[in-house]
Amino acid sequence: MRERKGDKSLENIRHTLAHLLASAVLENHPKAKLGIGPTIENGFYYDFDLKESLAPEDLPKLEKRMRELIKQDLKVTGSKVTTIAARKLFKDQPYKLDLIKDFVKEKKQLTVYKLGNIFSDLCKGGHVKGTKEIGLDAFKLTHLAGAYWKGDENNAQLQRVYGVAFNTQPELESHMEQLEEAAKRDHRKLGKELDLFSTNMLTGQGLILWHPKLSITRNVVEQFWRDEHYKNNYNLVFTPHIASMDMFVLSRHYNKYIDSMFPAMLHQYIEGESKSDYSTEEQLKPMNCPNHIQIFKSRPRSYRELPLRLGELGTVYRYERAGSLHGMTRVRGFTQDDSHIFCKPDQATDEIRSVIKLSKNIYEIFGFKNIEVYIATRPKRYLGTLNMWSFAENALKKAAESEGLKYQIDEGEGVFYGPKIDLKASDALGRKWQLGTIQFDFNMPDKAATTKQEVDEFWAMKTFRDKFNTKENLKKYLDKLGRGFDVTYINDDGKEERVVMIHRTILGSMERFFGVLIEHYAGAFPLWLSPVQVQVIAVGEKFQSYAQRITQELRAAGMRTELAEANETLGKRIREAETQKIPYILIVGEKEKQAGTVAVRKRGEGDLGTTTTSSLIKSLQEEINKHR
Ligand code: ZN
Repeated sequence: MRERKGDKSLENIRHTLAHLLASAVLENHPKAKLGIGPTIENGFYYDFDLKESLAPEDLPKLEKRMRELIKQDLKVTGSKVTTIAARKLFKDQPYKLDLIKDFVKEKKQLTVYKLGNIFSDLCKGGHVKGTKEIGLDAFKLTHLAGAYWKGDENNAQLQRVYGVAFNTQPELESHMEQLEEAAKRDHRKLGKELDLFSTNMLTGQGLILWHPKLSITRNVVEQFWRDEHYKNNYNLVFTPHIASMDMFVLSRHYNKYIDSMFPAMLHQYIEGESKSDYSTEEQLKPMNCPNHIQIFKSRPRSYRELPLRLGELGTVYRYERAGSLHGMTRVRGFTQDDSHIFCKPDQATDEIRSVIKLSKNIYEIFGFKNIEVYIATRPKRYLGTLNMWSFAENALKKAAESEGLKYQIDEGEGVFYGPKIDLKASDALGRKWQLGTIQFDFNMPDKAATTKQEVDEFWAMKTFRDKFNTKENLKKYLDKLGRGFDVTYINDDGKEERVVMIHRTILGSMERFFGVLIEHYAGAFPLWLSPVQVQVIAVGEKFQSYAQRITQELRAAGMRTELAEANETLGKRIREAETQKIPYILIVGEKEKQAGTVAVRKRGEGDLGTTTTSSLIKSLQEEINKHR
């Protein structure tokens, strides 16, 4: 069951449950050190630093104690406290003291919330008034996990207890059923069972090996993606996997995203090796944008060429902490379905509108539903002028409206270089996934001088200290480069003007999209995407040559068809093809051979009777075309 967005009373219930959980844990483990206990989608968690390891058997006991506390209708009360009082109150809680230090630095007002008289927590509030508001059977502690303090693997590892909570018991039950179904569809599990992909420590963590079957499907999806983009007047390009380090200094990825970039390859500079003004160091690219900009800038562009849309299935590498890697959905190397649109300001709304339209069409073809639009607006720290921001935010809103989509505003959640739209869609289980993003960029097309603050930010990085030895040298280098790529076109008066640049991805990345897709289809890809579309099985050895002929006919018609070896029993071969979720199984024996037909079994529908190969091919082609 999907909850109403912004259901505040449910948020309050979940938040209070996190406090109840911490209180219950403290009763059993008085020496427990408490981390944080926020609400999350569907529930809450709390992190604990304990000598003892919590086990799954402990969860029902904790739940029981939480229920007892709920029944006492404990009142939740909050009050502002001074830093000194807070430090005193949490003197035995090192993680709370750490948080207090952060809050003081951020000049935040400290507040403490009390659960009856039994438990106090440093917390910004959002609770029920009394615990009786919480349904006794509408929450559950689900599982345990390890988590580093502040998500940093250099910090202590804490034990995290997860819980889910809803307004009513039936909602909880339907959520638990959905979890069970989701576990069956886990793409890591299906990836093994269906021989789709793997990862291993020697290849490197978070780096996906695409096995032959999934590679077939990826090729189909990529070709489909290319076809759709050509139809929509995109120019598709290829650009290299590495780029000069200076490119990412200019784009300022270096000082903003240093933690997620792989280090530059520092090869020895040989006197006279390069006449280039730029450094000879290279960098695995974390983004494709600067390369697309270089294609745009390879010659002067006239206003007549705009909008110019450059698209690429471009592979990028970003460092993700080992703890956050997850199957195909969170990885270190991935291929984005990336595009950059260079246009005039008065073309921006139409461009965004057509990206939304294209995204919607593509999502619907894959069977995703309920497309949702989230517009992230100007954050506290931003580049560009207020005028630019309101222009861009309006363009995003107008585009969403004219596509008939309601949108939600994520106030202040935009990236520093421009506002954006996130596109989310629901899968077969009703789970929401963020797929596409449309992002304005005021930074990269711009040209500005390096600021003193930027010099400091670069100087703070060891790479740059080692390379330049003195801050003066570094400053010289940064001053010479400046910031941004100065992307312009010649307007109809013959004057140079700055382009509007829009980044966009529709699927996100091939890796993540396929992780989602495997779960969405539960591994049973529709016919047009199935790695093997048809499995031919002969009833016995002596019909194998007839089966071979059928296989060839289907292959000649472009159907991805495999012939089962005759070395297993018929039942076993059929079961195997069913386990592999192959959409069509053709069984041939004496009767079929005599009549020149095949007996057809369709996935999910069972026996369809016998037919000729030519009429089967025709209906398969129709089924494939229906999806395209
Ligand atoms: Zn980009």
